[in-house]
Amino acid sequence: MATDISILGLGLMGSALAGTLLKAGHRVTVWNRSAAKAEPLAAQGAAVAATAAEAVLASPLVIVCVLDYAATRQLLDGADLAGRTVLNLTNGRPAEARETAAWVTGLGGDYLDGGIMAVPQMIGAPGALILYSGSPAAFDRHEPALTALAEPRYLGEDPGLAPLYDLAMLTGMYGQFAGFLSAAALIASERRSVAEFTESLLVPWLHAMAAITPPMGTQIDAADHATDVANLEVNRVALANLETTFREQGVRPDLLLPLKAIVDRRVAGGHGAEDLSALVEELR
Ligand code: NDP
Repeated sequence: MATDISILGLGLMGSALAGTLLKAGHRVTVWNRSAAKAEPLAAQGAAVAATAAEAVLASPLVIVCVLDYAATRQLLDGADLAGRTVLNLTNGRPAEARETAAWVTGLGGDYLDGGIMAVPQMIGAPGALILYSGSPAAFDRHEPALTALAEPRYLGEDPGLAPLYDLAMLTGMYGQFAGFLSAAALIASERRSVAEFTESLLVPWLHAMAAITPPMGTQIDAADHATDVANLEVNRVALANLETTFREQGVRPDLLLPLKAIVDRRVAGGHGAEDLSALVEELR
């Protein structure tokens, strides 16, 4: 069913959101601080609001996708939010989401926060995911329209949950990139092809290792770190070999050293027989 949706912020992501909602047949009103970015969307049928406040008035669902929460607050300041749902798809922190939710609800609006797990080119295509949290009634009301953007995943009423999960997913991603970049530097130290190593060996290995993380998650939930896979003492020796090899190859082990330090600390604390999952106890 076609609905009225306003989009504030037409950077790379906001423009992709607006274009996708237009293609899905929704009536879209757009606003951007630099007006020129609205022109391609106007050509696709979007209505262009002269001010952010005017864009807010145009639709019951107001999507904001700008640089940060400070910009979100700045552009919504003075707008009539009563009876509207503000969906903030701007990247930020759980505390900022909770503060913004309290501010919007104090003005009579409903608040949803969202974490976009996709790049602009993926919006509207299979594989895109958006995490949501905040008002359950607002999510139920708008979910049919939001499905056009990406698979929606609602996490709960606490508005901080979407940014928390978003940042946790980015944490996993940066950890993977840290491992990839270190491995690449090691392979490159012998002038071997990083591309070939990555495609034929590293990626299948990472897939296999990713498959053992859900059981590790179960162990972490249960605080049960017994292992029949590999104990921390074995991992301690492997990481010591890694550090020495990196140095012998003239490669900096910097991205691995924090992990090695935590393994060393846990083993020194008498927990060498535990699973790698036990490191989470050192982090909290
Ligand atoms: P862009 O840099 O392309 O666009 C930034 C947008 O923010 C522009 O519309 C800009 O307006 C606006 N803006 C910045 N400061 C202000 C302000 N003070 N007042 C009003 N508007 C302001 O960024 P993206 O579109 O890539 O990212 C937008 C959000 O989406 C970010 O929070 C990002 O983390 C998130 N995101 C982006 C992804 C991506 O792959 N690009 C992936 C997942 C999330 P102007 O045009 O006038 O400068």
